[in-house]
Amino acid sequence: MTITTKAYGVQSEKDNLKPMDIQRREVGDDDVKLDITYCGVCHSDIHTARNEWGGSKYPVVPGHEIIGHVTAVGKNVKNFKIGDVVGVGCLVDSCQECAQCKNNMEQFCEKGATFTYNSADKHLKGKQTFGGYSTSVVVNKEFVLNIPKNLDEAGAAPLLCAGITTWSPLRHWKVKKGDKVGVIGLGGLGHMGVKFANALGAHVVMITTSPSKAADAKKLGAHEVLISKNDAEMAKHKGTFDFILNTIPVGHKMDPYLSLLKVDATMVLVGAVEPLEPFHGGGIISGRKRIAGSLIGGIKETQEMLDFCGKHNIVSDIELIDIKDINTAYDRVVKADVKYRFVIDMASLK
Ligand code: NAP
Ligand code: ZN
Repeated sequence: MTITTKAYGVQSEKDNLKPMDIQRREVGDDDVKLDITYCGVCHSDIHTARNEWGGSKYPVVPGHEIIGHVTAVGKNVKNFKIGDVVGVGCLVDSCQECAQCKNNMEQFCEKGATFTYNSADKHLKGKQTFGGYSTSVVVNKEFVLNIPKNLDEAGAAPLLCAGITTWSPLRHWKVKKGDKVGVIGLGGLGHMGVKFANALGAHVVMITTSPSKAADAKKLGAHEVLISKNDAEMAKHKGTFDFILNTIPVGHKMDPYLSLLKVDATMVLVGAVEPLEPFHGGGIISGRKRIAGSLIGGIKETQEMLDFCGKHNIVSDIELIDIKDINTAYDRVVKADVKYRFVIDMASLK
């Protein structure tokens, strides 16, 4: 038995998003069902809908920044009750037994994590998972997050992906008070990176291609703004950064950014899940610099991030949209014209 559920998605990589019906599983003993109130729009949604990473299975229903209200729980669910405000991020299942899962890094599950959309569905054989551009979802209790009561629900939605994806590397590389931290790209991820780096006490430099975003970057918590297209300005910051978080969503030239790092400093890529332009080995050999990557974060770390946001009253700066405006929103994200995350008011789909 399945539950017919309203959603928005694409039938092929060339398609615009349109209304469709999808099937959700019935609530099992370990499951939580939520009515989705808000869902953020991540650039990954666009990459997947348009098959830019390859391997998309259609139809695609994107959405992995989900906020909802619990409407049903299975008999083994003790931590959530009907009416609770909860979140679901990029992960909805994993084996829970391998070394990575046991180490709270379900995103790297050795048997393959089940992502919120476009992963093989363990429950509905032969189908793929469908994301949060939808009125409801059924999720295993281990992958449901508590949303602190003081946070605005719509503003909290992007914490479930943009939030954890920037929080996790800042914590893993131990960014601390006084570090000079660069955040490249002022979009959904970048604006959360700025907020978190600021909250952790770093000296934050927004590295952007868009001079028009400079004033906003400062309001979001950047102490300085560096326009990456301006070679003279880039030269002034050469060799001065302790850490750089790179959210550029496409392949790009690495050398200009690597030259900003200090000796022994690290640049972490989170955005470009695709080939990068060739870069010069000398740029990292000289200075013992490091390039690293990072993928979202585990469930425990996501809850820690949400609790930190609750304590420090951190949410995303969003533009709330109706689901019918999603295709225009996609075009604006691709043009780097988002301030700074679109969130869908899911009441507009009911
Ligand atoms: P976004 O909102 O579109 O922001 C990206 C920003 O990067 C743009 O606003 C723009 O900022 C800058 N940019 C765009 N094209 C550029 C280029 N060619 N050169 C230099 N800068 C450029 O995207 P997002 O939702 O933050 O996601 C960013 C990337 O991270 C996407 O590829 C997404 O799929 C990926 N992602 C990865 C993870 C993970 O776990 N690793 C999780 C979520 C998302 P300026 O105008 O300031 O230059
Ligand atoms: Zn995302």
